[in-house]
Amino acid sequence: MILILKKKTLRVEADELLSRLQWMNLRGILTEENGQFHLAIVSGEDERIDFQQFVNLPQVEAMVPFTQKFKLAGMESKKQRSLVSIKDCCIGGDNLIVMAGPCSIESEEQIDRTALAVAAAGATILRGGAFKPRTSPYDFQGLGETGLKYLQRAAARHHLLSVSEVMDSQEVDLIASYVDILQIGARNMQNFTLLQHAGRTGKPILLKRGMAATYVDFLMAAEYILQTGNPNVILCERGIRTFETYTRNTLDLAAVPILHELSHLPVIVDPSHGTGIRQFVPPMAYAAVAAGADGLMIEVHPDPEKSYSDASQTISFETFAEMMKRIRILETALRFS
Ligand code: PEP
Ligand code: MN
Repeated sequence: MILILKKKTLRVEADELLSRLQWMNLRGILTEENGQFHLAIVSGEDERIDFQQFVNLPQVEAMVPFTQKFKLAGMESKKQRSLVSIKDCCIGGDNLIVMAGPCSIESEEQIDRTALAVAAAGATILRGGAFKPRTSPYDFQGLGETGLKYLQRAAARHHLLSVSEVMDSQEVDLIASYVDILQIGARNMQNFTLLQHAGRTGKPILLKRGMAATYVDFLMAAEYILQTGNPNVILCERGIRTFETYTRNTLDLAAVPILHELSHLPVIVDPSHGTGIRQFVPPMAYAAVAAGADGLMIEVHPDPEKSYSDASQTISFETFAEMMKRIRILETALRFS
């Protein structure tokens, strides 16, 4: 149920109502839209609650039931699009946001050179994995905290924000102390404990779609983060497993308009993991922009062939710069069309 509070309700009154719900063992999430408070009651045991009691409260204007399972990620609790703002960067607004960098941070020089190149080409967020989810335990697992230090320094030097993956609840606070955005990878999309731990940091969370996740599964995973009270969730389509084996994954670009219809959260696309093949990264990036993506995540390396991980899908500085030029043209064309 969503309690829509009267326009003149003050924040103290809304907070008081929220505490009253807590006292009744109900979980409420308070949001403000067009100067009006909405109090979403998101407890699971809806059937056992007599919601009628809320309708008569003086602050309540209306009560609307949830019809979707994804209560906070869906459009029922929030009609306006969510903007995830970090410093002067706004994800989900009018500008396409590009996150770029190597799959794994390999050395300070590698991440610094990449930061310089991607910043010059127009990226605003530097990506780099320090704790890597590798299919084989014998493959490079990342530089850990040392890698995060390199990432933080490179991002600061080149005026970029940073994003890195967190794989384990125990590492959440450590990683959160170095980066601006916490990435939850496809393999962990349904690691609900991790989602909650990451959510509680209050940091923006880049949530990647699981390789076998439906849109509802994906939005329910986002729900785990949102119900911690952290509204800063960015959805990332990165390809799903299908019968097609030519590409690493099948990039589901229909996810962009569909998730935009189902949810107010920003949606970005990762054509690097989505295709697994470098020559297909730029065309699928253009297609993602045309489909309305709020941003892109691209794997870039000074010497792509020598990448410690995901070499086959990693593009060079030159390809990245060329791709960015075309994306800017495309964006302008779309804006005026
Ligand atoms: C990555 O971004 O390097 C990564 C491991 O992504 P995914 O979780 O989408 O496979
Ligand atoms: Mn990768």
